[in-house]
Amino acid sequence: GMWRRLSSALMFDAVHVVVSAVRELNRSQEIGVKPLSCTSPLIWQHGTSLMNYLRMVEYDGLTGHIEFNSKGQRTNYTLKILEKHPAGHKEIGIWYSNNTLAMNSTSLDLNASETLANKSLVVTTILENPYVMRKSNYQEYQGNDQYEGFCVDMLRELADILKFSFKIKLVDDGLYGAPEPNGSWTGMVGELINRKADLAVAGFTITSEREKVIDFSKPFMTLGISILYRVHLGRKPGYFSFLDPFSPAVWLFMLLAYLAVSCVLFLAARLSPYEWYNPHPCLRERRDILENQYTLGNSLWFPVGGFMQQGSEIMPRALSTRCVSGVWWAFTLIIISSYTANLAAFLTVQRMEAPIESPDDLADQTNIQYGTIHGGSTMTFFMNSRYQTYQRMWNYMYSKQPSVFVKSTEEGIARVLNSKYAFLMESTMNEYYRSLNCNLTQIGGLLDTKGYGIGMPLGSPYRDEITLGILQLQESNRLEILKRRWWEGGQCPKEEDHRAKGLGMENIGGIFVVLICGLIIAVFVAIMEFVWSTRRTAETDEVSVCQEMLTEFRNAVSCKKNSRSRRRRPLTSTGGGVLRHPSRLTLAGPRPIRLIREMRLSNGKLYSGAGCPDLGPGPQRLLEDPLVAPPAPPRSFLQACSHVRICQECRRIQSLRPAALTPPPPGASPPPRPDPEADVTAI
Ligand code: GLU
Repeated sequence: GMWRRLSSALMFDAVHVVVSAVRELNRSQEIGVKPLSCTSPLIWQHGTSLMNYLRMVEYDGLTGHIEFNSKGQRTNYTLKILEKHPAGHKEIGIWYSNNTLAMNSTSLDLNASETLANKSLVVTTILENPYVMRKSNYQEYQGNDQYEGFCVDMLRELADILKFSFKIKLVDDGLYGAPEPNGSWTGMVGELINRKADLAVAGFTITSEREKVIDFSKPFMTLGISILYRVHLGRKPGYFSFLDPFSPAVWLFMLLAYLAVSCVLFLAARLSPYEWYNPHPCLRERRDILENQYTLGNSLWFPVGGFMQQGSEIMPRALSTRCVSGVWWAFTLIIISSYTANLAAFLTVQRMEAPIESPDDLADQTNIQYGTIHGGSTMTFFMNSRYQTYQRMWNYMYSKQPSVFVKSTEEGIARVLNSKYAFLMESTMNEYYRSLNCNLTQIGGLLDTKGYGIGMPLGSPYRDEITLGILQLQESNRLEILKRRWWEGGQCPKEEDHRAKGLGMENIGGIFVVLICGLIIAVFVAIMEFVWSTRRTAETDEVSVCQEMLTEFRNAVSCKKNSRSRRRRPLTSTGGGVLRHPSRLTLAGPRPIRLIREMRLSNGKLYSGAGCPDLGPGPQRLLEDPLVAPPAPPRSFLQACSHVRICQECRRIQSLRPAALTPPPPGASPPPRPDPEADVTAI
């Protein structure tokens, strides 16, 4: 009936328009009527004029104001929006032909009798983890049961409280909603404006621009815009991360410094007269022998001992060598302290600082791309921002080709993970994706603060009820419980956990490798030394090498006294740590000198001449050398493998001519140690 009435009214108005147009035309010219054939090309001469008059007609008719544009279409008219009531229709708003809508909100508010109870609402929403998600087996379900998520749960609880039913409908264009240049809105905002839905329940941000065209409930979640970026992976601590505290260059320079110190030490010790001293002041044959402890080997060994904080028995005597040692120790102190201070950090740190730390860093660079979801509140935030940094960011995002805007959050996450892309997203979703994927991290803080609300068409009668329901859910902590349920489950360790964890083999395993390598090298060198020395003995003794080796080995292992008393030629060597005092050049032969040096080279230990106690195998060997020492005492006199050996010469010298013992030159030899010789002498 209504449609027939409408067409009658339109027909009435149309006839009126034609009549007034013909009347106007008739006033200006004589219009005669003549028949026209449909087949002839002739036209009625007044036709175009009549068309123009028709377009000029303005008149208030039954269907409202009547006016036409240049194309002959009706313009400048309004449509009344009526609501169906049991008692007829009620005007609730006006739609203007320039695409604007004015809802009669007061009339709606007055209508307080309208409640949600028993209503069936269409709810528009958008797929977004973890707000609204399709169940993994959603094909098996129908309607609302296909969906799950925070918003679905919240909606169910609201429906329980307010006793309404709902039907979930995904937004057609898959957008949240942003204004178009022509004034219309896309996404869920558009669907609410066009009354395609009664509610919009999603991670739907409350903004002032949207609030002008739709209504929002009170917020059910607060958040802000944040930056998501992938974790900038530092090198994983490897086996050899104990080398990391210093750069390779520093290690190299340390090696060079070590070599330089060794050389300077060697030279200084050669030049300084105070490094030359007589190690055997009590030996008459050696009285005129001066020795220098800084042989090449010792010069190389002494800095190692200092550097490793272990020291060595080589002690500098002259000012020059002490000076060298002092600065080396100072160097060592600083190097070791710096190393220790840095070590822990380098063994544990896996994640290095990201190259960007704030929105300003992002805005200042072009290497890393950044963007937002297309058609969401984050995009509009940058578009409308008056803050300089954000304006610059908007200009970049808007003009960047290919586009830095993404269709969905998932697409943004994939882009972050696979390219140099920072995603500007809301902190709640940021938090969710970070807990799922440990390779994601948030950069900086929040750019703003806002909330998610439930959207409704402007002037919706349900707003107060929905707001009330949300506040109830909030106060009963239901929303907090739901949030925990949908956001938990991340296995990403917190940053602090990294530090609390003990160091594993993967952190410090390298030093074990170094230890094992050192041991292997040591064994290898020992074998080389053994083979080398036995080869030489065998050469001179004209025994087969294998035979000699076997005997030597047996002796070395069984620890017999005679292993040390074998005949042995003094080994020749090059370079000298021993020098004869120039003034006493004629008093001693060359062989003992070589012998002494040989001992030093072999064990690096100083044989201090005073007292002559505690002789190790080396000095023993020296003393038993028939060329140097007097005939050895009966073998049985000395215990096999004893660490205490009697210095035969000293005893002899002491007993023969005690007065002849001249005090050693000052500073040339350390004071005699308390030694077991006293006891032994008494035997
Ligand atoms: N929550 C936003 C909105 O309501 C969408 C996500 C975003 O823009 O980052 O438009």
